[in-house]
Amino acid sequence: MSGSQERASRVVLITGGGRGIGAACALQAAQQGYAVAISYRDNKATAGGIVRSIEKTGGRAIAVRADVASEKDILAMFETVDRELGTLDALVNNAGIVAPARRVDQFDLARLEKMFTTNVIGSFLCAREAVRRMSTRHGGKGGSIVNLSSGASRLGAPGQYVDYAASKGAIDTMTLGLAKEVAAEGIRVNAVRPGLIYTDIHASGGEPGRVDRLKDMVPMQRGGTPDEVAAAVLWLMSTESSYTTGSILDVTGGR
Ligand code: NAP
Repeated sequence: MSGSQERASRVVLITGGGRGIGAACALQAAQQGYAVAISYRDNKATAGGIVRSIEKTGGRAIAVRADVASEKDILAMFETVDRELGTLDALVNNAGIVAPARRVDQFDLARLEKMFTTNVIGSFLCAREAVRRMSTRHGGKGGSIVNLSSGASRLGAPGQYVDYAASKGAIDTMTLGLAKEVAAEGIRVNAVRPGLIYTDIHASGGEPGRVDRLKDMVPMQRGGTPDEVAAAVLWLMSTESSYTTGSILDVTGGR
């Protein structure tokens, strides 16, 4: 089987693939021949737009509404992917949130529950469902999981969102542990730690201009693009990184 035929049969699920980094991953995956499932929580129209862009270029894609903070939604999402696209080869745990800048002494329980349920528990449950499908221990044929962490897990995000940074610290540790747990079962697990990337996530945290405000602190003196992060994700998904597992790749312009 040639490389392109091999890739043509591959299926990837990208959570939060309708916008930002997830959308860039979806478009690059489709260009490389993957059948692509993207999930969204609220923005059906933007997710539908990504599906149509992929279909226009002859690719295969579906969009599924699923809140990663809901186990019921996650189970239904994986069943839809099984039914409509077939056996999963790769999962990109991309869906994630920030919250408005606050000090820890201002956090309330609702904020913390939402942050950790979405960013940590959601990623764990999606990884669990992927392992149940991919692991040779469960009769699967192996695969690749790529988690979206953040440079914040190293920096701590003081005065802004220490909760978000800590949720990404959990993603780093999950990546290390799960990678070792399933390494002999055909599954590689890695993470990408983006730095300051131009997406809407900063507006959702109350500061749309955050990348430009902070970019002088980046050794490369600029923010990054979703495509620059997606290229790293796609490499970790691909067989080109076949001996790489439990790795956390910084895509931060040196920050
Ligand atoms: P974004 O532009 O805000 O997009 C977030 C995506 O996640 C959207 O597709 C959104 O769906 C989806 N989403 C949010 N909450 C969800 C939920 N509960 N269930 C399902 N989907 C949900 O974010 P981004 O900047 O592309 O970030 C993507 C990932 O990279 C995140 O994990 C983020 O923490 C990480 N990251 C980003 C940066 C950065 O500077 N941008 C830096 C470091 C790490 P809807 O469209 O339906 O709302």
